[in-house]
Formats: sequence, C-alpha cells, structure tokens
Amino acid sequence: MWLAPYASHPEQTKGRRFPEPPAPTRSDFQRDRDRIVHSTAFRRLVYKTQVFLNHEGDLFRTRLTHSLEVAQLGRSISRSLGLNEDLVEAIALAHDLGHTPFGHAGQDALNDCMNGHGGFEHNLQSLRVVDKLEERYPGFDGLNLSFETREGILKHCSRANAEQLEAQEPGGVGRRFIKGTQPSLEAQLCNLADEIAYNAHDIDDGVRSGLITMEQLEAVPLFVRFRDETLSEHPQATGRRLLFDTIRRMLSQQVYDVIDATRANLAEHMPLHAEEARLCPALVRFSQPMREASTQLKRFLFKELYRHSQVNDTTARAKQALIELFDAYVAQPEAMPPDFARRGDLHRAVADYIAGMTDRFAVREHERLTGRKIF
Ligand code: MG
Repeated sequence: MWLAPYASHPEQTKGRRFPEPPAPTRSDFQRDRDRIVHSTAFRRLVYKTQVFLNHEGDLFRTRLTHSLEVAQLGRSISRSLGLNEDLVEAIALAHDLGHTPFGHAGQDALNDCMNGHGGFEHNLQSLRVVDKLEERYPGFDGLNLSFETREGILKHCSRANAEQLEAQEPGGVGRRFIKGTQPSLEAQLCNLADEIAYNAHDIDDGVRSGLITMEQLEAVPLFVRFRDETLSEHPQATGRRLLFDTIRRMLSQQVYDVIDATRANLAEHMPLHAEEARLCPALVRFSQPMREASTQLKRFLFKELYRHSQVNDTTARAKQALIELFDAYVAQPEAMPPDFARRGDLHRAVADYIAGMTDRFAVREHERLTGRKIF
C-alpha cells in the first residue's frame, strides 16, 4: 500500500491507551480492524435497523451491510488518494457500533430517557463500545484501539461531552472539538463515504419497499441525470435494472468527484504530514455542485422516506417500546444481567444495555417485561 505523506502512517500512531507490544505481522490499524470484526458489537449490527426495521424484509440494508458498503466506498477512494486503507476500513466498520436497536427512533428514545442523566448520543456510544463496553481482554476494558481509529469513530461530539472526554484523557479524542481542528483525512473520508453510501442505498431500499417511486425521483436532479444516461445507452432498460444502473453511475460519479475535489484541496493546502492535515480546513470534500446535489438528495430522502407516514408509524411504536423497556429496567434492575444490574450508575447501565440490543432482542425483552407485543 503506497501512502502519501499526508496519510496516517501506522508507525507514527499516537498509540493505544494501554500500551501493547506491536503485532508481528500487522500494522496497528490492521490490528484495530481485526479487533472490530471479532467484537460482539460488530456481530450485533446484522440485526440492527438502518432505516427499515429488521423484520420488515430480508433484503433491506442493516447496520452491518451499511457498514460494509461504507468500508468498500471508503477503501476505494482511499487508494486513489494514497490514504491509509486499513485505517479507513477500521473506522468504517466501527462507525455505527453505538447505534441502538430501531435506528434513529432508538437513539431518540434513549436520549429522552437519559435527559438529566447525561443524554445519549450514538457517536459517543460507539466510542464507549470500543473503549469500555466490549469485554474481550483480561487486562483492560474495551478493544484498546489506536488513537486514530477512535478519533475517526467520534465524528460528532457536543462541547460538554468533549470537555468531559478531555478531562478523562487530556489531549485525546475530545480535544479537536474544543480546538476546532479536523480529524485525520481517513476520518474525514469515512464521514463522506457514509453519506454517499446511505444516500444510494436508501434510494434502493426506498424503491424496493414501495414507499418511494421512480416517478417521485424525478424531483432529484442527481438521480435524473444518471437515469437519463442509462436510458441513452440502454433505451430498453426498465425496473430494477434501470434503478441499479442509475445508482451505480451516481455512486461512481460521487467517488470521482470526491477524489478530484480532494486532490485540488490537497494541492492548494499541501499538508506535509497527517498532523498538518488536521490543522487545515476539511480537505476531503465534494465539489460545490456535488455538495449541493447530495444535499438535495438527502432532503428528498428525509421528506419522502425517513418521514413517510408508514415509517413514522413504526418509528413511533419502536420509540415508545424502548421508553417502556427503559422504565421497566430502572424499576426492576434485576431484570437485566447482573453485570448491568449491579453497576452503580443505573440510568447509564440501562442505556448501555438497551443500546447494545439487536432489534429482535429488544422486541422479545419488551414482550417479556410488559406482556405486550410491539408489532
Ligand atoms: Mg453510518
């Protein structure tokens, strides 16, 4: 793997919280990636909702397939830019580990329940999973990942949470939110690859579900441009093949756009190493026209899919169920496994326990504790 000077070079890693001898055959970032793949939280992603609830169909994206798509797009762009593919892959596979069951409904429910108890934020929870909640090593909690992977996982953070992190770990992953600097270029890339991935796969899942139609997509210029391109080359194309080919072209164009725009930004700012890149403005970006096109597409998906009445209905039920589940555990901590029940910080323990659940486990637990079925 050729690494550009501004890439994250594993031999310059800022290290792990608990020092470990280097692995004989793998770089620190490869090792992080491997630890993530072997974690319990990673396996749970297969039964966690992305947009459509897990039981609504077998072909919709789950958090796991979404994360794999982010890793694929990220690696592909990374190689063209001379960035560290291993680090990109590690961040991409871990970026959603902190997601609750039932997607954003779950996040909203836990944030409401944790009001007055420190709140709940899925990005911070992803960091908690890899820093604290995974139990795989005798010598420390969590996976003891390198700074660079943890930095990439924490993509947003409130000022208050950043200050708390900074107090626990001075100069650590909270610092950039206080200083207003950027994360590594690999972390910036994962952020954008996430957006490219969900915009594309949510069109696919949205049409598959019947909640959005090809006719509605006429309102999205980015989609229309590539659908017309497909039709001019393959006038007979219809249905799924037309949809897939359009999405494929749209994805490719977004990838090329990021590569070109980022190369131009790199040429302008010329960071000489990874640390210098952190002090520049965000360099891994879409061109201005693609930024606008992507934002339009996001707005369309928000209005027509994420806020579709049918999605709203299941979302509201899922949210209500998690709130009931939360209250049930607070009233009856012994309904949780002893590790959680005996922790001193009851509300946080309940949030950690629920956040770790798969959709179907949450459904079963809700039924066990309330005697009612959610769906
Ligand atoms: Mg994501």
